[in-house]
Amino acid sequence: MVKYVEKEFKTAINKLKFPDSWFWARYTINPYSGCEHACIYCDARSQRYYLDDFENEVIIKTNIDKKLELRIKRAKKLLPDVVGAGGVNDAYQSCEKKVGNTRKILQVLSKYQYPVNIATKSNLIMRDIDLFEKIAKKTWCTIGFSITTIDEDMAQFLEPFSSSPIERLEALKTIKSEAPNVQVGTYFMPIIPFLEDSEENLKEVIKKSKNAGADFILFSPGLTLRDVQAQYFINKLKDSKYKNIVKPLLHLYKGQTYPPADYARKIHKILSSYCDNYKIPIRIKRWIPSDYRKWNYKISEVLLNEEYIDRVNFGKSNKNLMWAGLNINNLEESILEVYKRGDLLKLKNFNMNIVKFIKPFLDRSKNLELKTGLDKFL
Ligand code: SF4
Repeated sequence: MVKYVEKEFKTAINKLKFPDSWFWARYTINPYSGCEHACIYCDARSQRYYLDDFENEVIIKTNIDKKLELRIKRAKKLLPDVVGAGGVNDAYQSCEKKVGNTRKILQVLSKYQYPVNIATKSNLIMRDIDLFEKIAKKTWCTIGFSITTIDEDMAQFLEPFSSSPIERLEALKTIKSEAPNVQVGTYFMPIIPFLEDSEENLKEVIKKSKNAGADFILFSPGLTLRDVQAQYFINKLKDSKYKNIVKPLLHLYKGQTYPPADYARKIHKILSSYCDNYKIPIRIKRWIPSDYRKWNYKISEVLLNEEYIDRVNFGKSNKNLMWAGLNINNLEESILEVYKRGDLLKLKNFNMNIVKFIKPFLDRSKNLELKTGLDKFL
């Protein structure tokens, strides 16, 4: 039995120093603390989150919508940007049906035209299709279903209280058809080595997502194995019909938190070639503001996409490219002004290669046509 505790928190929304380069979120908001989905691999069990009984006691944040509205109204420097709802909790876990914190938050975000990105394992999300389409029409809305297997038994073992993978795919399909302006796709993560990394499973998740109408697939083989979370997960495996993967799994990780780089490279390669075959993007189209940040965000997206694709293809991160891409988000003027002054090389982490790479994009800025629908984010 899950225990629900009501609690009022001082803050509703948290601003990140840099946007998240996968989900493009600049703010995070958690309608709840704790998650009754109780996935057995969940990283929220690790000590770094200080959540004692995170699946048996869910804290319901009272007045979160009022706090959020006050914060947006009072903060002069708060610019609209992507809000990621539900980090170490699922915004659509079952108590949302009754409490409605997530819906209330969405109503505030819609009123103030803040774009939204939500990741979920629940088909309860379909309840809010009207709001998603409204937000998407005004700004930008992205929804990702976390799907890592289509084997119902395995999903039931790994994610005992979530909607089944078939139900998630059905929800994806419904959102795609009823809310055409919403960007919807699959978060294929974390991929559990020896359980979910067979070529058959990797292909099936991509194929089924594509058939359901996914606009993107974000993937990562990075299951974490960290302190208490690792112990919990390994104990669950030992008590199950999947116990024979414990030995190879521990051997693969060799006491580290993440799988080794050559393993990640191998999985990335397979996944990107399948996504290529199915013509499905492996990045989310970013929200682009219409104020002075417009070209800063576009160029940042170009650089961060390039860095990501390089990492997937060659297994190496180009830190300079990454930091150049992240730092532009904090510029207080448009990069076009910097370009006109001839000062691009003065920007943090910029070098001649980066300048050469982005110049065609900056030159193209003069001849931009106004696009509609999801294409306006291209
Ligand atoms: S839905 Fe997400 S936050 Fe909730 S238990 Fe599962 S992995 Fe953790």
